[in-house]
Amino acid sequence: MTINPTLGRDPALAQVGVTPSPLALLLLGRGSDPASERGVDCPGELPPAADPTLAARAAAAKTALGDRVFILGHHYQRDEVIAFADVTGDSFKLAQQAAARPQAEAIVFCGVHFMAESADILTGAHQRVILPDLAAGCSMADMATAEQVEQAWDDLLDAGVAADTVPVSYMNSSAAIKAFTGRHDGTICTSSNARRALEWAFGERGGARVLFLPDQHLGRNTAVGELGMTEADCVVYDPHRPGGGLTHRQLREAKMILWRGHCSVHGRFTRDSVDEVRARIPGITVLAHPECRREVVTAADLVGSTEYIISVVDAAPAGSAFAIGTELNLVQRLAKRHPDKTIVFLDRTVCFCSTMNRIDMPHLVWTLESLVRGETVNQIAVDRDVATFARKALDQMLALP
Ligand code: SF4
Repeated sequence: MTINPTLGRDPALAQVGVTPSPLALLLLGRGSDPASERGVDCPGELPPAADPTLAARAAAAKTALGDRVFILGHHYQRDEVIAFADVTGDSFKLAQQAAARPQAEAIVFCGVHFMAESADILTGAHQRVILPDLAAGCSMADMATAEQVEQAWDDLLDAGVAADTVPVSYMNSSAAIKAFTGRHDGTICTSSNARRALEWAFGERGGARVLFLPDQHLGRNTAVGELGMTEADCVVYDPHRPGGGLTHRQLREAKMILWRGHCSVHGRFTRDSVDEVRARIPGITVLAHPECRREVVTAADLVGSTEYIISVVDAAPAGSAFAIGTELNLVQRLAKRHPDKTIVFLDRTVCFCSTMNRIDMPHLVWTLESLVRGETVNQIAVDRDVATFARKALDQMLALP
């Protein structure tokens, strides 16, 4: 993988209190590394990253396409890509926005693979959803494959607990996992409505326990932190061990069966990160995403989704100070937007989402210019049967009280 040495001196990183390590720079996702994540090379002729006309070319292609194209930008995308987004947001907001633009023939999703799948499920048959770089996967979503989850359900059947177990799957999962959830009358959730999803599963849906996929931290933080369960009510199903590493009795007695998955970005923050920033900047408010480990969430002052984090920082008075535990592109953007506030990253080393960073200007320009020529590249099309059941689980989320 080729590394850009100037990143080590990036003033934007210095502004949020970060010193990049060589390993972190490797994780930035510039270029193609077949040994990591999805390891998919871009099939097209990309313009060089150093081409000084990239922004002008993207703007010209976007103008030529007009309303026929709609560009979605996730909060964790790079600034130069976000500049071309028609709308920015979290994964679910973006999928909803795509569905609200039936006139757009092409939806360019600047985010990761599972998000483009959700957009394809929620948009019309006449719309094509495009992921500018097919290597932009999500390491958390990849931690739960369809085969592993079917095996887990077989284990629950063997233990005699499947009938009263409700699958609740985080939005950050593949379409196949969403379809599994729909087939078993479960629901999807986001980091904003995970509490309501669990209340529905144990209440109206009548479940005795929940199989929570694939982020153990969001599941535990919601169950223990918001619904008053104990750590003992939660067990962790490890897909790499026979029976998930759990006895039938453990499965029977659990209220939450948490999948052994996590976000490689948010999972890096530790209790030490919180203690260190508090010692360095007395009085600072620690804001953490619920994908962080429990030890971080319990030590934080405020916990919430990316949309919540943005709203808290936007509403705070000048002079406020925040240490934010979420993806670094978003933290840098907030720091730039609020020069009157102290905004630092909740870690001393770089923590970009390497796959989000794969969407860059060369891929965006290639995608848009291909569309101008009448070619659709990197289309994400979910199998119809999978889409039907995934849609059922997504609709259940929309119907949550
Ligand atoms: S930040 Fe984490 S959950 Fe989000 S796309 Fe990256 S790896 Fe996946």
